[in-house]
Amino acid sequence: MIDLRSDTVTRPTDAMTAAMFAAPVGDDVYGEDPTVNALEEAVAVRLGKEAAIFVPSGTMANQIAVRLHCRPGEELICEETSHVVLWEGGGPAALSGVTVRPLPGAFGRLSLAQLEGLHRPDDIHSPPSKLLWLENTHNRGGGTCYDIDAVRAMGRWARQEGMARHLDGARLWNAMVATGVPADVWAAQFDTVSVCFSKGLGAPVGSALAGTKEQMKLARRYRKMFGGGMRQAGMIAAACLYAMEHHVTRLADDHANAKLLADAVRSVPGFTLVPPVVETNLVWFEVDRARHGSPQDVTRKLREQGVLMSALGETTVRAVTHLDVTREQCEQAAVVVRSLAWGGRAGPT
Ligand SMILES: *Cc1c(COP(=O)(O)O)cnc(C)c1O
Repeated sequence: MIDLRSDTVTRPTDAMTAAMFAAPVGDDVYGEDPTVNALEEAVAVRLGKEAAIFVPSGTMANQIAVRLHCRPGEELICEETSHVVLWEGGGPAALSGVTVRPLPGAFGRLSLAQLEGLHRPDDIHSPPSKLLWLENTHNRGGGTCYDIDAVRAMGRWARQEGMARHLDGARLWNAMVATGVPADVWAAQFDTVSVCFSKGLGAPVGSALAGTKEQMKLARRYRKMFGGGMRQAGMIAAACLYAMEHHVTRLADDHANAKLLADAVRSVPGFTLVPPVVETNLVWFEVDRARHGSPQDVTRKLREQGVLMSALGETTVRAVTHLDVTREQCEQAAVVVRSLAWGGRAGPT
């Protein structure tokens, strides 16, 4: 099977596994795991922040950030199809008593023009606007990257309004490779940044949150409270360190493979790429149900020919390229996608 459902399906490489077995470990709740400490230091350096904290998931990194920046009754401002809105189980309300104010985006991206005038006045009736939340690359937006100058402008606006700024950078590595803008330049526009190692970088588990020393001290308290204090976590931190050293530049291959798949999708009548241009490793497309049936029908036909993609919602399919699919497999998957133009049977060649 060629598994294009998600970039989270990767298995550790042999070299990564060797690094995991060789890692010196200790009890990280006591702050005594040398490999976790090394990873946190390396992440802080990469992102140009004072400190970082290792956490089990990107969701936890994000939810700790909500807790750090907002108190109950306050609001965060974000794009309406952000991961924190769609796929974190209502965490801001459930875990921190925070309301989310979602704004429509252009394939996940907000603009300064939308934000101006949105900060609520100091008034006993209003939820204080405390946090601007951006996501880069944007998952539901279609793997889209922000323009760094747009981010700078929005960051300046938030600071002027006295708001904190968080970046959901689960796929910041992809944005960095696609745009050529280094991770620390993106991160400089934000107070805190979350990153994942378990997506395109291919580690089995693990994410991190970065910010000031003071913030990360508090983040350790919230991580423990949310149940994320881990013990000999160096076993998995070693995989994350390995991934950050060896699997970032190769993301360019995933992006090229995604473009190849996108070309195949574009060629099928009744499939529409949304957004029309694929920037990174995510390929989202809409299915004309009159022509192809439901997205589940489409993914079943693909599966019958050895290709797995995700059916999401009433009309949507997502394919994701990653470390565990080769160029040849993507070429093969592209042939299978093209075959759907003739109802799933091999067409004229
Ligand atoms: C995957 C993802 C996360 C975190 O996911 P976990 O599965 O909790 O690690 C956060 N933000 C975005 C944009 C994501 O795609």
